[in-house]
This record gives sequence, structure tokens and C-alpha cells, in this order.
Amino acid sequence: MCVFLLLPLTRALYFQFHGFETPSVSHILPAKDSISTKKKAIAPSNGNFLSNLILSFNFRCPPAKSIYNYKGPLIILCKDDLGEETLKEFCLFCTNLHPNIKQHMIEEHPNQEQVAFVTSRPSKYQQRFWKLLSAWGNHAHNNMNALQKGIGFIIPSMLNSTRKQLYDMRLCSGCKTWLSTMSLYSHKKYCPAKQWETSFGEYLEARFQNG
Ligand SMILES: [Zn+2]
Ligand SMILES: [Zn+2]
Repeated sequence: MCVFLLLPLTRALYFQFHGFETPSVSHILPAKDSISTKKKAIAPSNGNFLSNLILSFNFRCPPAKSIYNYKGPLIILCKDDLGEETLKEFCLFCTNLHPNIKQHMIEEHPNQEQVAFVTSRPSKYQQRFWKLLSAWGNHAHNNMNALQKGIGFIIPSMLNSTRKQLYDMRLCSGCKTWLSTMSLYSHKKYCPAKQWETSFGEYLEARFQNG
């Protein structure tokens, strides 16, 4: 009698747990896949109450953490922090983060005087001015704020493989980039902010005179 009752129950339980692969969070929300694609891939064809309950719980789990959401004690960003993410920088004009800040400024802010100025320069001078604008964006919309609060991350001029400490770094007062103490002296001679001051001033003057 008991055997007759237990058999269907055992079968039911077996299919509850083995009828489909129970998805883990990493199955559902890997960093680079969209939620909609993965939902389709793992949706069971014969859904039941328990499977739906497991799925709805997993879909509510947060996606993988990004360094750009880091709110811990202040760090100088290094390559290891990024993992598989690409370096993003803060736009000087709209404050948003972008992986290709130069392209973003050209496409989204062509009417800003600074952007129009850089694109009008000979190509051999442009790269250092794009770097300058991205450094100003990082400084204005992230680095200074992080430094004042002691929370988050500072984006330095170059990402090191190993983490630098704050006491190893200096802020260039001209281009607002963070450099290692050792390289600040040589940087000062070639800081792009010096060249910017003269060239951008002349550009604005010419624009004003030409109406
Ligand atoms: Zn922008
Ligand atoms: Zn500088």
C-alpha cells in the first residue's frame, strides 16, 4: 500500500528536480549576455510551479558587479580591477562613462568649443588634446569627488598592472592627471595643458574676430 503511494510521489519529486537543469545566477546573467537572450535559452518547455519559483528567484538576483559601481575605500584604479571590462572614462560635457571617450565627444558634442578646436588641429596634435579632455572629464566628474569623500576610485593617466597607493601618486595641476611621483617631474615639461592654453586661446580669439 505504502509502496503504491510512494512511487508516484518519488517520480514527481524526481521530475521536479531533474526535469531541467536548475540555472545558477552565472547561467542567467553573465556580464556580457543580455537578459532576454538567456531567458529564452533556459526556459523549460514544461514549466511547473517549483521551476517557475526557482527561475523567478534567480532573475531577481543582481548582475555581476562592475568596478564602475565600486563604493569602497579609495583606490587608484589598476588593470586587475577591470577584469574583462574595458577602461571607461567620464565625459567632460555630459558626465557619462564611455569606453571610447574620443569617439563619443566627436559624435555627441561636436558643437562644444573644445571639441571643435581639437578636431581642427593637425592630426599629430590631436591625440594629446583628446587625452587632456578625457583627463579633465575624469577629474571633474569622478576623481576629485572620490578624493574628497575617500570613497571609490581614481582613474590615473596610465593603468598599472599592480595597484599604486595614493602616497605614490601626484596630481598634475595643469592637465589634472594622476601620475606616479617619479614621472611627475618629466611630465611637467611636456604637460599638454601648457600647449592647450596658448593654442585654444588663439583659436577662440580668431573665432571671435571672424564673428
Ligand atoms: Zn558626453
Ligand atoms: Zn599635466
